[in-house]
Amino acid sequence: MDVYGLIGNPVEHSLSPPMHEAGYDELGLDARYVTFEPPVDEAPEAVAAAQTLGVSGLNVTIPFKQAVLEAVQPDDLAARIGAVNTIDLTGQAPTGHNTDAIGAVRALQNHDVTLAGSAVVVGAGGAGRAVAFGLADEGLTVSIANRTVETAHDLAADVPGASGHSLDELGALLADADVLVNATSVGMDEDRSPVPADALHDGLAVLDAVYSPLETRLLRDAAAAGAKTVDGAWMLLYQGVEAFERWTGRDAPVEAMNETLRRAL
Ligand code: NAP
Repeated sequence: MDVYGLIGNPVEHSLSPPMHEAGYDELGLDARYVTFEPPVDEAPEAVAAAQTLGVSGLNVTIPFKQAVLEAVQPDDLAARIGAVNTIDLTGQAPTGHNTDAIGAVRALQNHDVTLAGSAVVVGAGGAGRAVAFGLADEGLTVSIANRTVETAHDLAADVPGASGHSLDELGALLADADVLVNATSVGMDEDRSPVPADALHDGLAVLDAVYSPLETRLLRDAAAAGAKTVDGAWMLLYQGVEAFERWTGRDAPVEAMNETLRRAL
């Protein structure tokens, strides 16, 4: 039996176990997906222990995405983002990957969003970094707006062609934008949006990384403005699909994983 898992702290409410196990069941794979909650300052030890125990792959969530970097060989994208959310333990040394970036890209592409033109990413934390690199690698010109403006400038300096801004500039930035991604935690379990409703328009595609609730205030405002909307469960799904495919070498049964994920939400 192959064992995959998630390290984070806390992990008890994670949706990854049912989502991945739905994929194993659908393909008839003899595999399980379990959660681990190591002490917050022992990320490298947790990765080494998992490898010793024969775990084949790990997802990584808060607060370990940066800390595991010292325990893995990151690929180019994970090194540029500076965070790892997927580890392959089947080789000689653990390798680190970041599927949040491609998760956001695939979520948009699978809603027929043309990835061209300009994008505004709100937030410059872990999710914001991944999304900004993912969209820039697709050729979009990325503007990053963040509450702490220095963090937006720091991220923009790392992302090719990007610029950093304060949240006050959102109205002006969005006027000509094609894609908007909320990568802040604003809207999570609360009826608040990080973006003024009157800045939204029908030329936008809006992805909210927040998936609890699924229909956030931002997505409601965006739909009312005539924009295309993509909820955060799609990004969660596709980051998991990318990890599943890397680990198993099989095409992920996306529909089965999506159905289970949405039932679990
Ligand atoms: P993080 O590293 O802690 O970053 C949090 C971000 O939110 C920062 O940019 C922070 O700005 C901003 N922020 C927090 N409170 C704010 C407020 N009151 N007003 C304005 N901005 C505020 O967290 P993360 O890992 O990037 O996660 C961000 C969100 O994305 C979470 O809701 C998470 O669940 C979601 N997420 C979803 C997926 C998915 O697959 N759907 C994947 C990853 C993350 P400052 O820099 O100013 O503090």
